[in-house]
Amino acid sequence: MNNFEYRHGELYCEHVPVSRIAKELGTPCYVYSHATLVRHFKAYDSAFKNIPHIVAFAMKANSNLAILRLMAKEGSGADIVSGGELFRALTAGVPASKIIFAGVGKSADEIRDALKADILMFNIESSAEIHAINEVAASVGKKARIALRINPDVDPKTHPYISTGMKKSKFGIAADRALEEYKMASSLSHIDIVGVHAHIGSQLTDVTPFVDSLKKVVALIDTLKGQGINIRYLNIGGGLGITYDAEKPPLPQDLADAISPLVKDLGLTLVMEPGRVIVGNAGILVTKALYRKEGESKTFVIVDAAMNDLIRPSLYGAYHEIRPLDEAAGRRDKQQVDIVGPVCESGDFLAKDRLLATIQPGELLAVMSAGAYGFVMASNYNSRPRVPEVLIKDGEIHVIRARETYDDLIKGETIPAFLS
Ligand SMILES: *Cc1c(COP(=O)(O)O)cnc(C)c1O
Repeated sequence: MNNFEYRHGELYCEHVPVSRIAKELGTPCYVYSHATLVRHFKAYDSAFKNIPHIVAFAMKANSNLAILRLMAKEGSGADIVSGGELFRALTAGVPASKIIFAGVGKSADEIRDALKADILMFNIESSAEIHAINEVAASVGKKARIALRINPDVDPKTHPYISTGMKKSKFGIAADRALEEYKMASSLSHIDIVGVHAHIGSQLTDVTPFVDSLKKVVALIDTLKGQGINIRYLNIGGGLGITYDAEKPPLPQDLADAISPLVKDLGLTLVMEPGRVIVGNAGILVTKALYRKEGESKTFVIVDAAMNDLIRPSLYGAYHEIRPLDEAAGRRDKQQVDIVGPVCESGDFLAKDRLLATIQPGELLAVMSAGAYGFVMASNYNSRPRVPEVLIKDGEIHVIRARETYDDLIKGETIPAFLS
């Protein structure tokens, strides 16, 4: 459920007509609903209320400072994947005691910064990384709390680019090698083993892969116990899917109901890293139709947003619903069109072969479900300034990121003297 609905014939975000936001800020722009964000976080958090747990929002899905602060105020931690994300999380006020550092390629500098900040733990992805973290920890005189990321080899049945828990994946340590790696880690002086982690993929629309993965992880925890290695945190990752089109993903409560029997008597703290399910349907990208172009075999609607603003359609062939802001426009005769942007790439599209009510130039459109992996993947390709982000709360429009200027585009660039 989200707070983008037609009222009085036009699309609203909470109590604000989206057309008013477009008028004040121009297009394209990202619009987020405060009420939706809070509701989604609470739904997830409260689903697990009977088990000791930490929700660490996967901030790669949306790392705007205001969104992170909002999450932190609701009690969320952060799942980070870089030094830059650590900086953002701390700046936004996420407590270090709820920050978890994941990712296959942490640099020594990033590890040092995270140790100095005293984050909750590192999710380790390889044998080499265990040694690297041990060395850095020794150099700063600290013990690094760690979990090993297990690759449970289950098929999450999602897009291959966002599937992470199968044998061929670059992520995690194979389940059958985990014991050996844990034993090795336990022999290192500056490593404190605290957890087991598994994250099998994103946009999962069934609880079965979560349960299959968890069974393997629970078996491993048992084996580790037999070896005197006591685990305190069981991290099940993120990955719960959302409705973009006609998907019927499980609710957080369904996930909680499915896994609770497996974990409730283990005496562990459950850690979860949801991203998309919290922010995905809490945001839209607003764009304006510029031109209609009748091609040889297709009709194109050219809009002012492009793949540099929202790359998911180009990158994953992802589906985003497109709605006119004017409800009546949605009742016009339907026509099959491609919605494309101004970027000079054939892969620049927001929708392909989509049957949509006829769109006229000048009309405003909402690209729905754009709150996750939207703005965070934006680039300046074609020297397009990145678009603003706004947070709507009740009747108020809060700009949480200004539109970039042309000066922003050249920030940090210099022409060497020999060229002058
Ligand atoms: C991307 C990622 C997440 C979040 O995934 P969502 O599908 O957005 O919930 C959580 N944990 C790890 C390790 C990730 O890489």
